[in-house]
Amino acid sequence: MSVTLCGMRLVTEDDVIEDAIIAIEGERVVGVRRGSRPAGAIDLEGALVMAGFVDQHCHGGGQGDFFSADIDQIRTAAATHLAHGTTTIVASLVTATTEDLLAQLAALRPTVADGTIAGVHLEGPWISPQECGAHDITLLRSPDPAEIETLLDAAGSDIAMVTLAPELAGGVAATEQFVDAGVVVAVGHTEADLATTRAAIDSGATVATHLLNRMPVLHKRSPGPVLALMDDPRVVCELIVDGVHIDPEMVRFVIEHVGPDRVAAVTDAMGAAGAPEGRYKIGYLDVEVADGQARLTSDGALAGSVLTLDTALVNLVTKCGQSLPDATRMLSATPARTMGLTDRGRLAAGMRADLVVLDDQLSISRVMRAGTWVSGPQ
Ligand SMILES: [Zn+2]
Repeated sequence: MSVTLCGMRLVTEDDVIEDAIIAIEGERVVGVRRGSRPAGAIDLEGALVMAGFVDQHCHGGGQGDFFSADIDQIRTAAATHLAHGTTTIVASLVTATTEDLLAQLAALRPTVADGTIAGVHLEGPWISPQECGAHDITLLRSPDPAEIETLLDAAGSDIAMVTLAPELAGGVAATEQFVDAGVVVAVGHTEADLATTRAAIDSGATVATHLLNRMPVLHKRSPGPVLALMDDPRVVCELIVDGVHIDPEMVRFVIEHVGPDRVAAVTDAMGAAGAPEGRYKIGYLDVEVADGQARLTSDGALAGSVLTLDTALVNLVTKCGQSLPDATRMLSATPARTMGLTDRGRLAAGMRADLVVLDDQLSISRVMRAGTWVSGPQ
């Protein structure tokens, strides 16, 4: 099936192109150009079009949780974020027993196989007890090469990313083990010092898991992980742009210093994203969601967000002073590149036809994934 879209303002990584035309065949974009409108093209009547969003850190949504090992919940979570413009999603799993991780990976397997999920992110269990946030502290452990091998053997290439704290015993060796297996390693939930964080980066870590959240703040005499992660051009920094986890001025400051090619806007969303507030769980722990915040009932720690990436777009532009081209880098191009998804993240010939159509208030009217309209008027 081929379709041509015209009459849009196309947001690219560098510009907003008036009167752009996108030709799509099957799942792929075959051409992007300006010029006279071809007969039979769908006129988007001046709407904004951006590449579909890529969320590399998300736990759930629509009352579904990737942790549940329940296929309906997994599909509900992915579909909820898809309706909000996330055409590529990585399923994050919080700390669990090895047995439960294996069951969760098995449950996610068919959805990775059919492309609903782009891969799995193991956030923990190899993280710092001092910075565990909404992870069950009783299940944290140091990385054990045998456990890692078991998980890699069971999941094959489904494990796309892990978050670990490199200061744990075996942390840097585990970084090497995962990198050798083709897994993206993210440093997070950590109190590593500058040298240890740099050692992890030298061993192949390329991501900062929700920079500034669950790691020590910059300190003048012990700069710690934040300086090491922001300082190194090999590292992409995740930012949860919900206005709760980080002040918008801090978001602006980080972007100004590392640049939008090194920032991935993530949701870190839990089951209440795109769903009513109330009682939820993250992993094994109870969460109360109220006033747009998800917090553990035990100690009030933030337990993920209720963010969707369309709201992150609005926040980036209206609260953090970012341009639309820079926003599309942080919402799509940078996370796609970070996760090694070479056919996503921007709209150009050869890329998968993933796009969102937005009005002037940046609300989504339609979403296309792999050449098919998945929401909005069909
Ligand atoms: Zn998370």
